[in-house]
Amino acid sequence: MTIGVLALQGSVSEHLKMITSINKKIVTVPVRTVDELATVDGLIIPGGESTTLRKILETPPAPNVEPLFIPIKERIAAGMAVWGTCAGLILLASRVEGENPCFGLLDIDVKRNGYGRQINSFVGEGEFDGMTVGMAFIRAPIVTRVGSGVQVLAEYDGKPVAVRQDNILATTFHPEVMQRDNRIHKYFCNMVEDKV
Ligand code: GLN
Repeated sequence: MTIGVLALQGSVSEHLKMITSINKKIVTVPVRTVDELATVDGLIIPGGESTTLRKILETPPAPNVEPLFIPIKERIAAGMAVWGTCAGLILLASRVEGENPCFGLLDIDVKRNGYGRQINSFVGEGEFDGMTVGMAFIRAPIVTRVGSGVQVLAEYDGKPVAVRQDNILATTFHPEVMQRDNRIHKYFCNMVEDKV
């Protein structure tokens, strides 16, 4: 099994380390090109800055080189398992308050920087699919609506913070920064395995 982490900006190495910690046999690939994308069975879209990520996704990396935006969108639509954390969730959402959506494949509405500025970032705790996990919210978005085909896997303060729609997993928090806890990464690996 090969898991890619979109490696344009944001918390890339933390995700790669978490996946490697689960099982050394899982191949991890930082994805920057369409050729790299073609090698992966599942993709993590990390946190970072969604506007920056989006710009890079839509820009050809070199003259006559295809940008990643359409190939990623097509893979997700064709059933590839994908997990967006924080900015990654924003890119997947079908509606983003005050902006045009990016991939628009996950039936949720989202408000960017819903808890305020960087200084309002915090670590909480909650239940994710029956497990108690630490939740690091870093300039996190707030999910303000969840479509009928979307399952809420975790809530914090009465709001959805982890959701799943078939092959799409999205969290507003950052499991990759929690030391020694790779259980949500394991959950995603199981999703990828189910689709492989
Ligand atoms: N605030 C960022 C955005 O709107 C997301 C922050 C993050 O990914 N940690 O894109």
